[in-house]
Amino acid sequence: MNSAAMYPPVSAPAGNMFGNVPGYEGTVAGGGGYLPPPMPLEPIAPPQPGPAPEDWTIPSLTEDVARSAFKSYASDHCCYSSSPAEDGVITNTEPFNTYRYRLETFTESRSTEWATKPHEGEQADFYTQTAPRPWEVLAQAPNYFTKHKQEIRVPYTSSVQNCSSCQAAGTIVCDKCQGSGYDKNCWVCNGTGTKLDESCNHCDGKGKERCEECDVNGMKKCDTCKGKRMLLTYIKLKVEWLNNVEDHVVSQNSGMDEGDLKAVSGKELFKNSQYLIYPVTGFPNPAIAEASERMVRDHQAKYGQASRILQQRQTVELIPITKVQYKWKGNTHAYYVYGNENKVSADYPATCCCVIQ
Ligand SMILES: [Zn+2]
Ligand SMILES: [Zn+2]
Ligand SMILES: [Zn+2]
Repeated sequence: MNSAAMYPPVSAPAGNMFGNVPGYEGTVAGGGGYLPPPMPLEPIAPPQPGPAPEDWTIPSLTEDVARSAFKSYASDHCCYSSSPAEDGVITNTEPFNTYRYRLETFTESRSTEWATKPHEGEQADFYTQTAPRPWEVLAQAPNYFTKHKQEIRVPYTSSVQNCSSCQAAGTIVCDKCQGSGYDKNCWVCNGTGTKLDESCNHCDGKGKERCEECDVNGMKKCDTCKGKRMLLTYIKLKVEWLNNVEDHVVSQNSGMDEGDLKAVSGKELFKNSQYLIYPVTGFPNPAIAEASERMVRDHQAKYGQASRILQQRQTVELIPITKVQYKWKGNTHAYYVYGNENKVSADYPATCCCVIQ
């Protein structure tokens, strides 16, 4: 028995009827636009206290630490001569410790589209109740500041129809063998069915190879309904959580490439998170407060439009940077040791150990 008979005939979900789901008027098949959240921004919380002043400094690097960082830097580059790191004489160290302000805005955005899937027993609940609006549908938010995606079938938008690709049969004619169950000519008998006046063993005298696509059936499972005969059409809600991170590094005029600082961490001076944060105040360097105020304002305007802000977090780090000058072979050179990780940035004077120094 054809399972299509189990369902009352349902008119195809085309055009107007589906355009009329309240809250989903603009939804189209194959991907809709992002939906602005209905929630207005809430008032901003009161100011946060700054860090304790004794935290604002980092002890200077000792020469021993500077030299060993430089040695391991040289040995990490297989072609570098160890001579400058081993024999160089440190003449001066100078701290250029700098602040990094980081703002993270964790957002949720939602979009909808009409979707179809093989019917696997889901209830056809179209219009049995009013569908919840896109931002009323419950979604399982991940931990804050973690990227995540979820797809949800919106309740009361599902209907069931016969699969039109297979006319609800669940199977279609195999396109490889055109339904015959047999494919190209047998390679043993060359399509004749006989070999040395006897019936060909390889093809049982058929002269053709068995079709592997349909396993000699001539029919195969319908790709559209995966053999289920029926399709479920529904509104798919796509929910996406993103962490939008922006850094501001206060310029330190050490001569070092600031891009290198992305790879390291610093001493954490201050961190707070809440729904909508208030810019930091009370730091000895006014550039931090300025960056914080500008970025918080930008993020709340930018990410509060097409998405919903769930949480914000701001961090102030003090990144240690030491400029080390040293003499090697009569010339003065410099390198930088930076970050909690004691990474080194240098214009190394002996980048090829093949040359005898
Ligand atoms: Zn054959
Ligand atoms: Zn076939
Ligand atoms: Zn089908």
